[in-house]
Amino acid sequence: MVSADVAIVGTGPNGLAAGVVLARAGLRVELYEGADTIGGGLRTAPLFDSGVLHDLCAAVHPMAAASPFFRAFDLAARGVELLHPEISYAHPLDGGRAALAHRSLAATCEHLGPDGPRWRRLMSPLLEHSEGVVDLLLSGQRGLPRDPAAALLLASRVAVHGSGLGAARFQGQEASALLTGVAAHAVGRLPSLASGAVAMLLGHLAHGSGWPLPRGGSGRIAEAMAQDITVHGGVFHTGHTVQSLAELQGARAVLLDTSPKGFLALAGGGLPRSYARALERFRYGPGAAKVDFLVSEPIPWSDPAVGRAGTVHLGGTHAEMVRQETANARGVRTREPFVLLVDPAVTDPGRALPGKRPVWAYAHVPNGDPTDPYELVRARIERYAPGFGDTIIAHRSVPAAHYETYNPNYVGGDIGSGAMTLYQSIARPAPRIDPYRTPLPGVFLCSAATPPGPSVHGMSGYMAALSALRHCFGIRHLPNLAPTSEPFKSGRTR
Ligand SMILES: Cc1cc2nc3c(=O)[nH]c(=O)nc-3n(C[C@H](O)[C@H](O)[C@H](O)COP(=O)(O)OP(=O)(O)OC[C@H]3O[C@@H](n4cnc5c(N)ncnc54)[C@H](O)[C@@H]3O)c2cc1C
Repeated sequence: MVSADVAIVGTGPNGLAAGVVLARAGLRVELYEGADTIGGGLRTAPLFDSGVLHDLCAAVHPMAAASPFFRAFDLAARGVELLHPEISYAHPLDGGRAALAHRSLAATCEHLGPDGPRWRRLMSPLLEHSEGVVDLLLSGQRGLPRDPAAALLLASRVAVHGSGLGAARFQGQEASALLTGVAAHAVGRLPSLASGAVAMLLGHLAHGSGWPLPRGGSGRIAEAMAQDITVHGGVFHTGHTVQSLAELQGARAVLLDTSPKGFLALAGGGLPRSYARALERFRYGPGAAKVDFLVSEPIPWSDPAVGRAGTVHLGGTHAEMVRQETANARGVRTREPFVLLVDPAVTDPGRALPGKRPVWAYAHVPNGDPTDPYELVRARIERYAPGFGDTIIAHRSVPAAHYETYNPNYVGGDIGSGAMTLYQSIARPAPRIDPYRTPLPGVFLCSAATPPGPSVHGMSGYMAALSALRHCFGIRHLPNLAPTSEPFKSGRTR
């Protein structure tokens, strides 16, 4: 029996965002976390050396930098410094070449030769309408666009770059590899309309609000959110896996930062049949298989410019990535999978000690793949940085099949909490007008399995909390989320 107004199950960025909003609205909030520490995908910890911190899941935060929730929450005012690399992301190619997405659009275009003006024509209008683009894609995706021009710009670009037409728009391998590497963040078949939308959102943010890393690691974001919740009376219960909704009786609202599979288990057969069937039919995407390395020196990239990038995409040419990602989405393992890599000390030198630095890398693999990814990932890095293997002091592998043990939301290693198809990017986890509200009175879903989907933006938690405020407490005002003492700002929930 719970005595609080609100019980939240799970403390990933969405559970925490919901907690911030609801505690700020003056409600008594209790949060339950199965793991021993809060944060979900936002945990940072030493793995090999007490002085070297590794981001266990999320490392780079373009979505947090752009998200309306985090803009209102104001990470900077709470001492969380988002550090920007000079090069947002790099894409090494064979022959010692690399394509580079500088934070500066002009610098990027300058290095793309004849494709420079095309890259500018693609990104520049999106940057001019960035707020509208973000508003459209990082939202509940239910209302009419506030900036119709942004919607039109997006639609025309997604139609081209989310289909087979996109690659032909570029002459050289560099520009098409750059864009396809960003599209691959959708972790699914390439090309697709969903991956096209991801490419436009993340692609333009690289030249706008950026792809930053928090100084000291992603855990700093979770700490700032938890502190705000605690200051406003919220209480955390860690090491407490909630097994059934019956445990939470007494709370007027229950918010679940869980996967649809987790929700089915918590409801224990208590859901209406049609909704339960929709959750059972929810499709999970390919998996991630991660390797954390402790290395002795910066990665010896064939093109040294790659060593100035915050994020590195290892996938080869556009055609190679299309083959890898499409095979993967069909459940076929490839010998050279797409790998994302971050050397956090490039952006945050404080993350390294003399002769010791963390490297974060994960490969896209089929859902549930039990294979140790160490050799795959090491070989992928060696292809573009010969000698990397000699710098490895220690490593830790997490196969896709093991992610669910670490965090039950990552079903089969799907770190996106559900396949990013066009249908599932809107009808997450089931086709409903209010995707956060479930058929059970007072029970809301707030995880990345609801719109706008995966990444650290807190928007699923924020939108679910606004729905709970309206439906369970009759509160229609937006609580003030900024670090001030004023409880409400003017404005209404949408
Ligand atoms: C390896 C990896 C790399 C990533 N890289 C990035 C990145 O660089 N940038 C980015 O923006 N995103 C990244 N992501 C994705 C991002 O971490 C997730 O999209 C995000 O964390 C989802 O937030 P969430 O709150 O929905 O759920 P989660 O962060 O998954 O948190 C859910 C929490 O709920 C808890 N929980 C679940 N069920 C129960 C229960 N029954 N009882 C109690 N507790 C429960 C879990 O233990 C977990 O702590 C990455 C993810 C992974 C795994």
